[in-house]
Amino acid sequence: MAAVALEARFEHLAINDENDVYSKTKLRQKAKIPTDTGTARLSHISRPPKYSESAVHRQQSTNAKQATSQAVPGKERQSAAHFRKPLGIISNAPVKTDKYRVTDVKQQNTIIVPVASQVAPIRDSQAILRGQKSIPTVSSRTSSAAGATEEQPATIIKQPVFKQFQLGMFEVGRSLGKGKFGRVYLARERQTGFICALKVLHKNEIVQGRVEKQVCREIEIQSNLRHPNVLRFYGYFYDSKRIFLILEYAAKGELYKHLQKARRFSESRAAQYIAQMTSALRYLHSKRVIHRDIKPENILLGRHGELKMADFGWSVHAPSGRRITKCGTLDYLPPEMVDPRRCQNPYDEKIDLWSLGVLMYELLVGSAPFEDTPSMTQKRIARGDMKIPSFVSSEAKDLIRKRIPLEKVQQHPWIMKHCLAGEKAAKAEKSDG
Ligand code: ATP
Ligand code: MG
Repeated sequence: MAAVALEARFEHLAINDENDVYSKTKLRQKAKIPTDTGTARLSHISRPPKYSESAVHRQQSTNAKQATSQAVPGKERQSAAHFRKPLGIISNAPVKTDKYRVTDVKQQNTIIVPVASQVAPIRDSQAILRGQKSIPTVSSRTSSAAGATEEQPATIIKQPVFKQFQLGMFEVGRSLGKGKFGRVYLARERQTGFICALKVLHKNEIVQGRVEKQVCREIEIQSNLRHPNVLRFYGYFYDSKRIFLILEYAAKGELYKHLQKARRFSESRAAQYIAQMTSALRYLHSKRVIHRDIKPENILLGRHGELKMADFGWSVHAPSGRRITKCGTLDYLPPEMVDPRRCQNPYDEKIDLWSLGVLMYELLVGSAPFEDTPSMTQKRIARGDMKIPSFVSSEAKDLIRKRIPLEKVQQHPWIMKHCLAGEKAAKAEKSDG
């Protein structure tokens, strides 16, 4: 019964595992899942203490994208939201191919996560799109150096441990949202009980949308990032039709949804987010990664409301520091990318600093500073034509207007004031409790 119910859910979700002999036979017989309702939900299954039942229950069950679009007040906002979609490549200038090699980013050897030990590097990205199922990867933990004798103990060489995933290793729960090329589901790794988000991308849509390179980049770049404010990428696997990305589960969903609900954030709340974004960006830039698509829709919130930078589809590894590809979302593009006189010039990590200012404005005001028709937005960005409402403090205005280095953002009086106050309040709360 249990197995039938679970299978039925998989059918409904349309993510049956083609490769998975495991789940179809042995595991199905073994599964002890309470199914009195006939709909085995993740929240009914015992989970590790880290993820309380209530935390998962509290998650809204509706598609975040639908919810946010319904909540858009007024037509203007709707059309503005329409323009906020990533532009893709909008330049007809010769587009430089982003040659990113996995080996450019240093692999970290010791990663202790319950679900995956290492993300296998992509050696041939096209193989994923062509491939029927994930390629077996290295699984040995340690190996002895050749030539070791009894007197001379072998040197233990730590090797990365890759785990080969397949869909049958996961129990798939409700949909967390829908993106352009697939859905994201709440999932639990059967063996460890680890809760994660499973992003399911359809290969034919990826090919039709000509975003193969973006998907591979998202995998390659994000799999090498480890920062508390960057959404973790644990691994990927694929079958003939789909690619599955195993991601950290961000329990509080999109920041955009929270902003729409609150209309605008208090200075102190906005400052906490900007401080976390700054920290994440410092980390990315130290690895020569430019995000290129910072906006509230691409920021998720963890269980405790902590910021998780996501959506690395437009991000790029910039070892040469010379890029001219136009991408991102118009509202958030800097003058050097929209001004026709300057757009042929290369740009660098500083484009993320501009977007950080736009984000700060939007969090405090509730709309982006240059929101207009696309051509007007472009002109206004090039002219730096924005008005900051009077309710925004002079310290915040000062930070919005300057594109200062990230270290300086962290020391800016507006950040210091609100983040130190936040820290003090948290400490006081702790000592009271
Ligand atoms: P794009 O295809 O441009 O990335 P998108 O960001 O809307 O578009 P997805 O990244 O596929 O698409 O995500 C769809 C939705 O699923 C998001 O808007 C978000 O609400 C939810 N979501 C995505 N990843 C997670 C996650 N790791 N944890 C919780 N919810 C998530
Ligand atoms: Mg996304």
